[in-house]
Amino acid sequence: MNKNLPLSERERALKIIKILKSTYPRKNHVSGDPYKTLIRCIISQRNRDEVTDRVSEELFKRYPTIESIASASVEEMQNFLKSLKVGLWRSKGKWIVETSRIILKKYNGRVPDKFEELIKLPGIGRKCANIVLAYGFGIPAIPVDTHVYRISRRLGLAPWDASPEEVEERLKSLIPREEWIYVNHAMVDHGKSVCKPIKPRCWECPLRGLCPKIGVQDTSSQ
Ligand code: SF4
Repeated sequence: MNKNLPLSERERALKIIKILKSTYPRKNHVSGDPYKTLIRCIISQRNRDEVTDRVSEELFKRYPTIESIASASVEEMQNFLKSLKVGLWRSKGKWIVETSRIILKKYNGRVPDKFEELIKLPGIGRKCANIVLAYGFGIPAIPVDTHVYRISRRLGLAPWDASPEEVEERLKSLIPREEWIYVNHAMVDHGKSVCKPIKPRCWECPLRGLCPKIGVQDTSSQ
Protein backbone atom coordinates (compact mmCIF):
# COMPACT_ATOMS: atom_id res chain seq x y z
CA MET A 1 0.00 0.00 0.00
CA ASN A 2 1.30 3.46 -0.88
CA LYS A 3 2.13 5.13 2.46
CA ASN A 4 2.12 8.61 0.87
CA LEU A 5 -1.62 8.63 0.21
CA PRO A 6 -3.67 10.63 2.68
CA LEU A 7 -5.35 8.32 5.19
CA SER A 8 -8.75 9.85 4.42
CA GLU A 9 -8.70 8.52 0.87
CA ARG A 10 -8.07 5.01 2.08
CA GLU A 11 -10.73 5.37 4.73
CA ARG A 12 -13.22 6.52 2.15
CA ALA A 13 -12.30 3.59 -0.11
CA LEU A 14 -12.81 1.19 2.81
CA LYS A 15 -16.19 2.71 3.56
CA ILE A 16 -17.18 2.26 -0.06
CA ILE A 17 -16.15 -1.40 0.01
CA LYS A 18 -18.01 -1.94 3.27
CA ILE A 19 -21.23 -0.49 1.82
CA LEU A 20 -20.83 -2.47 -1.40
CA LYS A 21 -20.36 -5.67 0.59
CA SER A 22 -23.53 -5.17 2.54
CA THR A 23 -25.44 -4.22 -0.64
CA TYR A 24 -24.03 -6.91 -2.92
CA PRO A 25 -22.95 -9.75 -0.69
CA ARG A 26 -21.30 -12.44 -2.73
CA LYS A 27 -18.53 -14.91 -2.42
CA ASN A 28 -15.60 -14.59 -4.75
CA HIS A 29 -16.25 -16.74 -7.76
CA VAL A 30 -13.21 -18.81 -8.70
CA SER A 31 -13.79 -21.20 -11.59
CA GLY A 32 -10.71 -23.29 -10.84
CA ASP A 33 -10.33 -23.71 -14.60
CA PRO A 34 -7.88 -21.04 -15.80
CA TYR A 35 -7.91 -22.30 -19.39
CA LYS A 36 -11.67 -22.00 -19.83
CA THR A 37 -11.57 -18.63 -18.04
CA LEU A 38 -8.94 -17.42 -20.49
CA ILE A 39 -10.76 -18.61 -23.62
CA ARG A 40 -13.99 -17.13 -22.28
CA CYS A 41 -12.25 -13.81 -21.77
CA ILE A 42 -11.04 -13.75 -25.38
CA ILE A 43 -14.60 -14.47 -26.56
CA SER A 44 -16.05 -11.79 -24.26
CA GLN A 45 -14.17 -8.87 -25.81
CA ARG A 46 -16.75 -6.38 -27.06
CA ASN A 47 -19.56 -8.89 -26.51
CA ARG A 48 -22.46 -8.92 -24.11
CA ASP A 49 -22.44 -11.53 -21.32
CA GLU A 50 -25.28 -13.51 -22.91
CA VAL A 51 -23.33 -13.84 -26.17
CA THR A 52 -20.18 -14.85 -24.29
CA ASP A 53 -22.09 -17.51 -22.32
CA ARG A 54 -23.71 -18.96 -25.43
CA VAL A 55 -20.55 -18.99 -27.54
CA SER A 56 -18.35 -20.38 -24.77
CA GLU A 57 -20.77 -23.23 -24.21
CA GLU A 58 -20.92 -24.07 -27.92
CA LEU A 59 -17.15 -23.84 -28.31
CA PHE A 60 -16.39 -26.21 -25.44
CA LYS A 61 -19.08 -28.60 -26.66
CA ARG A 62 -17.41 -28.79 -30.06
CA TYR A 63 -13.81 -28.59 -28.73
CA PRO A 64 -13.80 -29.99 -25.20
CA THR A 65 -10.02 -29.94 -24.59
CA ILE A 66 -7.07 -27.64 -25.15
CA GLU A 67 -5.64 -30.30 -27.49
CA SER A 68 -8.74 -30.24 -29.69
CA ILE A 69 -8.62 -26.44 -29.93
CA ALA A 70 -4.87 -26.35 -30.59
CA SER A 71 -5.17 -28.91 -33.38
CA ALA A 72 -7.94 -26.99 -35.17
CA SER A 73 -6.81 -24.73 -37.98
CA VAL A 74 -7.17 -20.98 -37.48
CA GLU A 75 -9.52 -20.85 -40.44
CA GLU A 76 -11.72 -23.61 -39.01
CA MET A 77 -12.00 -21.78 -35.68
CA GLN A 78 -12.75 -18.49 -37.41
CA ASN A 79 -15.54 -20.09 -39.43
CA PHE A 80 -16.93 -21.74 -36.32
CA LEU A 81 -17.04 -18.39 -34.48
CA LYS A 82 -18.48 -16.67 -37.52
CA SER A 83 -21.30 -19.26 -37.63
CA LEU A 84 -22.09 -18.32 -34.01
CA LYS A 85 -22.23 -14.64 -34.97
CA VAL A 86 -19.42 -13.51 -32.69
CA GLY A 87 -17.99 -10.03 -33.20
CA LEU A 88 -14.29 -9.91 -34.10
CA TRP A 89 -14.48 -13.58 -35.13
CA ARG A 90 -11.38 -13.28 -37.32
CA SER A 91 -9.10 -12.04 -34.53
CA LYS A 92 -10.67 -14.18 -31.85
CA GLY A 93 -10.40 -17.37 -33.92
CA LYS A 94 -6.70 -16.69 -34.46
CA TRP A 95 -6.03 -15.81 -30.80
CA ILE A 96 -7.89 -18.82 -29.43
CA VAL A 97 -5.97 -21.31 -31.58
CA GLU A 98 -2.56 -19.64 -31.25
CA THR A 99 -2.84 -19.10 -27.50
CA SER A 100 -3.86 -22.73 -27.00
CA ARG A 101 -0.90 -23.95 -29.04
CA ILE A 102 1.51 -21.80 -27.00
CA ILE A 103 0.07 -23.00 -23.67
CA LEU A 104 0.35 -26.59 -24.86
CA LYS A 105 3.92 -26.32 -26.17
CA LYS A 106 5.54 -23.78 -23.89
CA TYR A 107 3.68 -24.44 -20.64
CA ASN A 108 2.84 -28.17 -21.01
CA GLY A 109 -0.84 -27.40 -21.26
CA ARG A 110 -1.02 -25.43 -18.00
CA VAL A 111 -2.01 -21.78 -18.12
CA PRO A 112 0.76 -19.68 -16.52
CA ASP A 113 -0.22 -18.03 -13.23
CA LYS A 114 2.03 -14.97 -13.70
CA PHE A 115 0.70 -11.70 -15.06
CA GLU A 116 3.88 -11.07 -17.09
CA GLU A 117 3.54 -14.43 -18.86
CA LEU A 118 -0.20 -14.13 -19.43
CA ILE A 119 -0.01 -10.80 -21.23
CA LYS A 120 2.44 -12.27 -23.75
CA LEU A 121 -0.28 -14.62 -25.03
CA PRO A 122 -2.14 -13.61 -28.21
CA GLY A 123 -5.43 -11.84 -27.41
CA ILE A 124 -4.64 -11.45 -23.71
CA GLY A 125 -4.36 -7.89 -22.46
CA ARG A 126 -4.20 -6.53 -18.96
CA LYS A 127 -7.89 -7.03 -18.20
CA CYS A 128 -7.97 -10.67 -19.34
CA ALA A 129 -4.70 -11.46 -17.54
CA ASN A 130 -6.23 -10.17 -14.31
CA ILE A 131 -9.47 -12.06 -14.94
CA VAL A 132 -7.52 -15.30 -15.37
CA LEU A 133 -5.54 -14.65 -12.18
CA ALA A 134 -8.61 -13.67 -10.15
CA TYR A 135 -11.29 -15.99 -11.46
CA GLY A 136 -9.21 -18.84 -12.86
CA PHE A 137 -6.65 -19.16 -10.06
CA GLY A 138 -8.14 -17.16 -7.16
CA ILE A 139 -5.02 -14.96 -7.02
CA PRO A 140 -5.78 -11.38 -5.84
CA ALA A 141 -6.08 -9.11 -8.90
CA ILE A 142 -8.35 -6.28 -10.02
CA PRO A 143 -9.65 -6.69 -13.56
CA VAL A 144 -10.62 -3.21 -14.76
CA ASP A 145 -13.59 -3.82 -17.01
CA THR A 146 -16.00 -1.16 -18.22
CA HIS A 147 -17.92 -1.13 -14.90
CA VAL A 148 -14.84 -0.88 -12.68
CA TYR A 149 -13.40 1.83 -14.91
CA ARG A 150 -16.54 3.96 -14.94
CA ILE A 151 -17.56 3.58 -11.29
CA SER A 152 -14.08 4.04 -9.82
CA ARG A 153 -13.77 7.39 -11.59
CA ARG A 154 -17.29 8.50 -10.74
CA LEU A 155 -16.60 7.73 -7.10
CA GLY A 156 -13.37 9.69 -7.24
CA LEU A 157 -11.30 6.61 -6.43
CA ALA A 158 -9.21 7.52 -9.46
CA PRO A 159 -8.82 10.75 -11.46
CA TRP A 160 -11.35 11.26 -14.24
CA ASP A 161 -8.65 11.17 -16.91
CA ALA A 162 -6.92 8.05 -15.55
CA SER A 163 -6.26 5.18 -17.96
CA PRO A 164 -7.57 1.69 -17.09
CA GLU A 165 -4.06 0.75 -15.96
CA GLU A 166 -3.88 3.82 -13.70
CA VAL A 167 -7.30 2.98 -12.26
CA GLU A 168 -6.05 -0.52 -11.48
CA GLU A 169 -2.93 0.77 -9.72
CA ARG A 170 -4.92 3.36 -7.83
CA LEU A 171 -7.46 0.80 -6.59
CA LYS A 172 -4.66 -1.53 -5.55
CA SER A 173 -3.09 1.24 -3.49
CA LEU A 174 -6.39 2.09 -1.76
CA ILE A 175 -8.01 -1.29 -1.20
CA PRO A 176 -6.69 -4.19 0.88
CA ARG A 177 -5.41 -7.12 -1.17
CA GLU A 178 -7.99 -9.53 0.24
CA GLU A 179 -10.76 -7.39 -1.30
CA TRP A 180 -9.29 -7.07 -4.78
CA ILE A 181 -11.30 -9.86 -6.41
CA TYR A 182 -14.48 -8.65 -4.71
CA VAL A 183 -14.04 -5.14 -6.16
CA ASN A 184 -14.73 -6.40 -9.66
CA HIS A 185 -17.74 -8.46 -8.54
CA ALA A 186 -19.20 -5.53 -6.61
CA MET A 187 -18.73 -2.93 -9.32
CA VAL A 188 -20.21 -5.21 -11.98
CA ASP A 189 -23.29 -5.71 -9.78
CA HIS A 190 -23.48 -2.01 -8.96
CA GLY A 191 -22.89 -0.96 -12.57
CA LYS A 192 -25.63 -3.21 -13.95
CA SER A 193 -28.25 -2.28 -11.39
CA VAL A 194 -27.60 1.31 -10.19
CA CYS A 195 -24.53 3.12 -11.51
CA LYS A 196 -25.43 2.53 -15.13
CA PRO A 197 -23.37 4.03 -17.97
CA ILE A 198 -26.16 6.40 -18.96
CA LYS A 199 -28.49 7.92 -16.35
CA PRO A 200 -27.06 6.42 -13.17
CA ARG A 201 -29.76 5.88 -10.53
CA CYS A 202 -28.09 8.15 -7.97
CA TRP A 203 -31.28 8.69 -5.95
CA GLU A 204 -31.28 5.03 -4.91
CA CYS A 205 -27.53 4.57 -4.65
CA PRO A 206 -26.18 3.41 -1.27
CA LEU A 207 -22.93 5.27 -2.06
CA ARG A 208 -24.50 8.65 -2.75
CA GLY A 209 -23.14 10.14 0.50
CA LEU A 210 -19.61 9.35 -0.65
CA CYS A 211 -19.86 10.13 -4.33
CA PRO A 212 -18.63 13.40 -5.90
CA LYS A 213 -20.60 12.63 -9.09
CA ILE A 214 -24.00 12.26 -7.46
CA GLY A 215 -26.71 13.78 -9.60
CA VAL A 216 -24.39 14.43 -12.51
CA GLN A 217 -26.21 12.83 -15.39
CA ASP A 218 -23.55 13.40 -17.97
CA THR A 219 -21.01 11.09 -16.35
CA SER A 220 -19.86 9.44 -19.52
CA SER A 221 -18.06 6.16 -19.27
CA GLN A 222 -15.06 4.79 -21.14
S1 SF4 B 1 -24.14 8.36 -6.59
FE1 SF4 B 1 -24.59 8.05 -8.77
S2 SF4 B 1 -22.64 8.31 -9.89
FE2 SF4 B 1 -22.19 8.00 -7.69
S3 SF4 B 1 -21.81 5.78 -7.49
FE3 SF4 B 1 -23.97 6.16 -7.02
S4 SF4 B 1 -25.06 5.87 -8.96
FE4 SF4 B 1 -22.87 6.11 -9.44
